[in-house]
Amino acid sequence: MMDRRQWIRAAGLAGVAAAAPSPLSPSLSALTQRGAAPGPLGLPRARNLIFFALDGTGFEDLATASHFSERVLGRPFFFREFLRRGASSGAMFTHSLTAVVTDSAAASTAWSTGRKVVNGALCMYPDGRPLRPILDLAREAGRATGLATTTRITHATPAGWIARVADRDQEDDIALQYLEFQPEVLLGGGAAHFLARSRRDRRDLVAEFRARGYDVVRSRRELLNSAGDRILGLFTDGTSHVPYEIDRRFQGVDTPSLAEMAGAALARLQEAPRGFVLQVEAGRIDHANHENDPGGMIWEWMAADETLRLLVDFVDRTPGTLLFVAADHDTGGGTVYGFGDNYLSSTPALLTVQRQRMSLQRFRSRLGRNPDLALLPEAVREFLGFDPTPDQVERMGRVLKGEASFGHPTAHSGDLNSLAAVLWEIPKGRVDRPNLAFSTGNHTAGTVPVALYGTGLTPAPLGVVDNTQLFSWMLEALGLSFSNPEMSEAEALEILARRGEEGEPRFRHPFD
Ligand SMILES: [Zn+2]
Repeated sequence: MMDRRQWIRAAGLAGVAAAAPSPLSPSLSALTQRGAAPGPLGLPRARNLIFFALDGTGFEDLATASHFSERVLGRPFFFREFLRRGASSGAMFTHSLTAVVTDSAAASTAWSTGRKVVNGALCMYPDGRPLRPILDLAREAGRATGLATTTRITHATPAGWIARVADRDQEDDIALQYLEFQPEVLLGGGAAHFLARSRRDRRDLVAEFRARGYDVVRSRRELLNSAGDRILGLFTDGTSHVPYEIDRRFQGVDTPSLAEMAGAALARLQEAPRGFVLQVEAGRIDHANHENDPGGMIWEWMAADETLRLLVDFVDRTPGTLLFVAADHDTGGGTVYGFGDNYLSSTPALLTVQRQRMSLQRFRSRLGRNPDLALLPEAVREFLGFDPTPDQVERMGRVLKGEASFGHPTAHSGDLNSLAAVLWEIPKGRVDRPNLAFSTGNHTAGTVPVALYGTGLTPAPLGVVDNTQLFSWMLEALGLSFSNPEMSEAEALEILARRGEEGEPRFRHPFD
């Protein structure tokens, strides 16, 4: 089998042969950069723009979340109501400049600059050329700006709208670029990159934000009580993300919900004299999918759906506001599958997800490395909602001790993927397990949902678009015109090849 290095050579992408037509061209380049642009949509001019990013989720999850909400919780799924109210919707290709599967950094950059980059980079080409992101353009046009997310605030999806760095892991630099940029609202997790004791340069960014007039809040209560009109919210210590919704709801973890963060952001930005651009991110659907955690994923979606309702209500009472809703890529490739005669068992099996009361991640860390096997069945019953078979308990024990792996564990969440593979299998004749199968612990190349909604927008199918298209639509809505520099896939691969980076992608981060 050819390795990637040989393949790039064979494709004529290294050195002088780069100009020759390459076998890569039809696959990626055809849809890259200018290729897929359907042109202006005829969007109404928007004073305010809200972009609701759903990280790491695709059409299968949309259906799963919808069925769970309506059939299990008996609650209307607001996303459907959103479509009924006249949202324009479609699907989106997500590949990055040099890979069919994107990471969140390249995906966020595609939205915010209209250009594809190499996975891992934020608003920067591999030769160091920076790209101008949407919030920079919006601010120049007088808009207030904000970011609110359930991940670390310096994580890739929010960062891609302000920061320009070669590597998404430069989160100390990203925090510093936020300080220089001074968006009105920054809400999320991960205080480490703002605190003197954990920053490499020992700068106290919290003090520096305060000196620039920010109210810095560290808890849900402080957020809800804050009267500051510029706000920095850091809701978790260290490099932690905001805890999972399933743990917030059922394990008493005290943290603001995504809807509360979005509400706090809007309360401040709606006062902006010349309008605003706000990115709100449901950032951890992705993480639950990386971990192959059905209850984790579904409750992140429930929190996202509740947030969507809040955003749509805001749009309905605030003329001149346009709402974008888009997933950046799918993660996990999870599907609810049919089983039983006429698939009649597939619905009750979905009902069992309701009995899951803890994220798989929290469950794993509670059990520790060397749990008493006799206690495992009770732990599974109490927190995951079903009785494991003796065989499952035995295999769980081996996974927890690091002695075995099952399914398709990835470098990301290896033992969690293994644990999921053991736990979510359905023994013959049983219907009391979630019938949700994941195909990977990584991202996938699948197309994802995209939708637009707002004052004066005529509902129309968006078709299947490229992720870079959303930049053009945002510019159109804001009445702006701008074009970032271009780079071809071949050029990028050549630069990477010169640097010797065309081999196996580096593994650096638990959650790409
Ligand atoms: Zn992502």
